[in-house]
Amino acid sequence: MDTYVYQVGGKNYINLTNRCNNACDFCIRQNKVGIPGFSLWLEKEPEAEEVIAQLDAAGRGDVVFCGYGEPTLRLDVLKEVAAYVKSYGGKVRVNTNGLANREYGRDVVPELENLVDVMSISLNEASAEKYDAVCHSIYGPAAFDEMLDFARRCAGTRMDTVLSVVDVISPEDIAVCREIAEKVGARLRVREYSAE
Ligand code: SF4
Repeated sequence: MDTYVYQVGGKNYINLTNRCNNACDFCIRQNKVGIPGFSLWLEKEPEAEEVIAQLDAAGRGDVVFCGYGEPTLRLDVLKEVAAYVKSYGGKVRVNTNGLANREYGRDVVPELENLVDVMSISLNEASAEKYDAVCHSIYGPAAFDEMLDFARRCAGTRMDTVLSVVDVISPEDIAVCREIAEKVGARLRVREYSAE
């Protein structure tokens, strides 16, 4: 059976799709079959009821939309499951590339602001050129500004908005990323590189 819900560190991670509108060099989709104990490759993308059934079986709790692909590509399912989690008092985090507005051609932030507690957006790099060189978005270098505009809109809501980078970039670039995060009103999170 496909794994739509898996547990890491006491949280439920939700895997809605293996598709993405980026193709990052470092993406675990490129080189792994899953995390230990779970295969995250899906034979079929789930409907909300299927995710909710696995979440109920796991005992509910807080959730992180993450997975082996971009969760906002399943925006309707994400919203339905997030509303369910909020209905029992759980917390919702979304790990995203921040390209949903570009994908849908509209501002989806108002649709998410009351359903998502933490919006964690991958900044990855300090400039559009560097971002494009590693993330290979289908939207090209323009994806960088699209992602920052999404972050700015999220930061203007009640959502705790985080821009994340991995500590493989230089300290100088991390400093630039910190300035970028401040400018859009988000927190910067510097994650440690993990080969896992
Ligand atoms: S945005 Fe995330 S899921 Fe998409 S290719 Fe990059 S690392 Fe993978």
